[in-house]
Amino acid sequence: MDILERKPYNYAIHTSPSNDLRLHGHIRDIVVTGDNGLGHESAGVVLKVGKDVTRFKPGDKVALECGTPCSKATCYFCRTGQYNACPDVAFFSTPPHHGTLRRYHTHQEAWLHHIPDNISFEGGALLKPLTVALEGIDRSGLRLADPLVICGAGSIVLVTLLATNAAGAEPIVKELVPRVHQAFAGSIVETLGQEVKLVIECTGVESNIHAGIYIDLRFQYRYHDIYPKAISLVAAGIIDLKPLVSHRFALEDGVKAFETASNPAAKAIKVQILDD
Ligand SMILES: [Zn+2]
Repeated sequence: MDILERKPYNYAIHTSPSNDLRLHGHIRDIVVTGDNGLGHESAGVVLKVGKDVTRFKPGDKVALECGTPCSKATCYFCRTGQYNACPDVAFFSTPPHHGTLRRYHTHQEAWLHHIPDNISFEGGALLKPLTVALEGIDRSGLRLADPLVICGAGSIVLVTLLATNAAGAEPIVKELVPRVHQAFAGSIVETLGQEVKLVIECTGVESNIHAGIYIDLRFQYRYHDIYPKAISLVAAGIIDLKPLVSHRFALEDGVKAFETASNPAAKAIKVQILDD
């Protein structure tokens, strides 16, 4: 294949211990203190397989599940089907594991998913945020015609809106606001015309969580065993992820992609990097 002849091309955050991302933020105690490769919403084509691989062959289109747990029987979370909480998970793009925003990437067979021809590589990459939304819907116990509020204004919120709409939530508060202020919280009933049954909070902002607490509070951490559902919904046309992609760049123009994503004037939703 031609692409095998191309030079490797990777993207990483470059930092040093004296000027690292502690200055700008971090996720809990996960702090970038050196170079760390980016990217965990990815799809691609299989170029080569190892000798023990049985489910894939060169040329297959695949989506990557980027959290690969230890899968050991001695791990309580893996053994009990909660592999999203595996303490030894290798989550690509989370230190110390480099991400998938690169020309070539090696991935375990168990954490690849076949995608059919009618799902593009763009759609394959967007399966990742869709899995988060589907896991949230499962956790919430959403049922047909449940009145719903979704808190947030990012791409996870938009994909959650698509998924909850497909799941039959009605009515849904569609005002997308990054923070639920008290005035808005007070008007939720007025906006819905009835009491809300469920709130799906997608930001982690404290005021949103306060506004969303009714009786039962459930947290969600990543996702498990949900890629097949996401692939089925997109392949069947029940959820259309294409409108979420607002900008596209070639891999070599990746820096422009990050500049676009961080520029509010660009009105970016999902900025994708493609290596055709
Ligand atoms: Zn484990």
